[in-house]
Amino acid sequence: MKIIRKVNDMITLSHELKNAHLQIGFVPTMGYLHEGHTTLMETSIRENEVTIVSIFVNPLQFGPNEDFDQYPRDEKRDIDILKKHQVNYLFLPDVQEIYPSEPTVSMTVQNRTNVLCGKRRPGHFDGVVTVLSKLFHITKADFAYFGMKDAQQVAVIQGLVEDLNFPIQIRPVPTVRENDGLARSSRNIYLSNQERKQAPHLYRSLKLAEQLIIDGEINPVIIIEEVKKYLSLHTDGKLDYVELLSYPELKPIQTIGGQIIIALAVFFGKARLIDNIVIQVES
Ligand code: AMP
Repeated sequence: MKIIRKVNDMITLSHELKNAHLQIGFVPTMGYLHEGHTTLMETSIRENEVTIVSIFVNPLQFGPNEDFDQYPRDEKRDIDILKKHQVNYLFLPDVQEIYPSEPTVSMTVQNRTNVLCGKRRPGHFDGVVTVLSKLFHITKADFAYFGMKDAQQVAVIQGLVEDLNFPIQIRPVPTVRENDGLARSSRNIYLSNQERKQAPHLYRSLKLAEQLIIDGEINPVIIIEEVKKYLSLHTDGKLDYVELLSYPELKPIQTIGGQIIIALAVFFGKARLIDNIVIQVES
């Protein structure tokens, strides 16, 4: 595996790959890799001739009181994992490489962000679309792989690619979970033993919501209340939100129908865990 740290070197390389007519798959990450990330990589390796993974903890998508400085990092361990998975190229720029000077242009996401994490993390998705626009240009990827664990991110990026006609296709990949149902996340290492034991209840509460819908419940308010009740009964976590919306538009709905998302965020100590399920309901 070749490691590229400079933007110009990455641009030169992706230009060569393009000239050789190789199909490029791209997996952007913030590192501290786990099975969620490696599943994205495996999918890209299966579907493309060349796979580029990036590791970049993007300061622009962290709020002033968020965990940018504390975000877990382990370059050596990540490189070993990437080599084992036979990734072709790792793009590993530092902050100065990606943001060398004060920007002339800034991006603001207009839709799909006034709900869920976007509402609680002002500016977060502006930072996400900014860095991804740069990374899509730098890597010239044909396909980019994103986890449905961050379903709102997938919806926003799909909007970005459509709005600005990026010549790239977004491939969503299902959430990878631990055996007990907890969604894999770099932030799970923040959990104490007690919190780790309670964390699988997040997914169970979403499965409860799904079962209510299967059993014929059509009122989103009742479903959300049941999820909240379940969470307060089974965890000591501090609820940030539970929402039920259309997907990928992320609009409120009065009656269950079509493709919907049920998403939640819960604080366990300093860890803020998110999870969701997207389901198709016959109207
Ligand atoms: P991150 O390093 O947290 O920015 O994540 C990089 C990519 O991996 C994003 O597209 C995430 O949605 C995806 N990802 C993170 N955790 C999981 C998971 N448990 N299952 C599937 N994809 C994931």
